[in-house]
Amino acid sequence: MKFAVALLTFSWLAFSQQGFDLILKGGHVIDPRNGVDAVRDVAIRGGRIAAVEPGLPAGGATRTIDVSGLYVTPGLVDIHVHVFWGPRHGVTADGDHCVQPDAVGFRAGVTTMVDAGSAGWRDFPEFRRRVIDTAQTRVLAMINIVGVGMLGEDDAVDQNQFDMNPQLVADMARRNADVVVAIKSAHWRQKNFISVEKAVEAGNLANLPVMVDFGYFDKPYQVLVTDKLRSGDISTHFYRWPAPLLDANGKVAEYLYVARKRGVKFDVGHGGGSFHFPNAEPLVRQGFWPDSISTDLHSGSINGAMINMLNVMSKFLALGVPLSEVIRESTSNPALEIRRPQLGHIGVGADADVAVLRLEHGKFGYVDVKGGRIEGSRRLGCEMTLRGGKIVFDFNGRAGVPWRGANLDYPVR
Ligand SMILES: [Zn+2]
Repeated sequence: MKFAVALLTFSWLAFSQQGFDLILKGGHVIDPRNGVDAVRDVAIRGGRIAAVEPGLPAGGATRTIDVSGLYVTPGLVDIHVHVFWGPRHGVTADGDHCVQPDAVGFRAGVTTMVDAGSAGWRDFPEFRRRVIDTAQTRVLAMINIVGVGMLGEDDAVDQNQFDMNPQLVADMARRNADVVVAIKSAHWRQKNFISVEKAVEAGNLANLPVMVDFGYFDKPYQVLVTDKLRSGDISTHFYRWPAPLLDANGKVAEYLYVARKRGVKFDVGHGGGSFHFPNAEPLVRQGFWPDSISTDLHSGSINGAMINMLNVMSKFLALGVPLSEVIRESTSNPALEIRRPQLGHIGVGADADVAVLRLEHGKFGYVDVKGGRIEGSRRLGCEMTLRGGKIVFDFNGRAGVPWRGANLDYPVR
């Protein structure tokens, strides 16, 4: 009898130590950061990844969900979005083009978003209070070098060099170091680099990288990436036409290799006007892949050629980038660019931000922002998203139970 009690106590202890909240069973895990590309079960406990192993016993968890035939990846990290939504804040002067993060990210597997400079130092506290601190999505931010943020591209706002104060931007970044990951220079249309130089100055003061959106520049891109930007700084809208990324023979311009060697990062930032196949196709086919895939998410891009993170990722699959590399460019690479190495992977101990993706096979079309089209044979879709171990999107109701006979507390008729 004593022996039986001891055995019972022992097995209960063993279970409580090993017992998981959830096991995602039988999926193909792609976790580039940890070198995993194989069928593995993923176990979650207390909002964190507790085990990534083959053949975990289904009985070892409160709940087990079969995800065989699907890919299990780290929650996607989109480092170029605009989510300072609300009654006032724009991305251009004529209205609020920002979108609500939870409404668009989870359904595309995105668990971390980085707002790319919608707010400047003047209204960053409001952005933090109203969006960053209330979203379920992990929202991080780049502070715009312009004090009022991205309110318009006219002379009074984005072109106003007198509202660019590196010290005040750096101070605000330091006070919010838990969520501010970079400084943003945007939409600068002048024949000089003042906006970039001020952003770099703020970046030096706050010890943060800078993201610059080239394309509006009436000045050499080569100077930007081989001279103005530092190692670790990010050039977004990379494949935007007519940036001179190819030489006269259609080969990748030599200076791009020089810039990459210097440590400058090239980010997609697709958006509503910044992704063109005449640049993207030859560059990608010649092996000049992006360091990070991002959407430039706003109300003008989600119903255009961009659609969502998975559509942009599928575009790169169609251009010939291998699946595991597309996942790397959408998870661990962007996490490292924003210096958050704890994100973008699902090693044991990491926050359980997870995407469960299906890879559809068929005939699919992908367009650039001008309507130029290519075809692809694969498309990524989102089946399930977990944020901190919690299921926040479940396309086929895999976490549900057959309703007949289940004790689901339906209201009594
Ligand atoms: Zn943008």
